[in-house]
Amino acid sequence: MTASTHTTAKARSLAVPDLSVAGAAVWLSLTVLLAALAYYFLGYDQGAVSVFGSDTHVHEFVHDARHFLGFPCH
Ligand SMILES: [Zn+2]
Repeated sequence: MTASTHTTAKARSLAVPDLSVAGAAVWLSLTVLLAALAYYFLGYDQGAVSVFGSDTHVHEFVHDARHFLGFPCH
């Protein structure tokens, strides 16, 4: 029931993935860029302004996702 300093030092050495700061920054940037592109794609297709002309297939396909993200549509 005695705690030694040796066990405390062992508890600090947790297994951490070898991830550099630059690598993490690249992955986070790519993730944010991809999420922003997806968000723009979902928000752009309003029916009147559509990605593919006057077609509303994209709008109907992502309709529930648009409501979930707070875009008004009808
Ligand atoms: Zn709707």
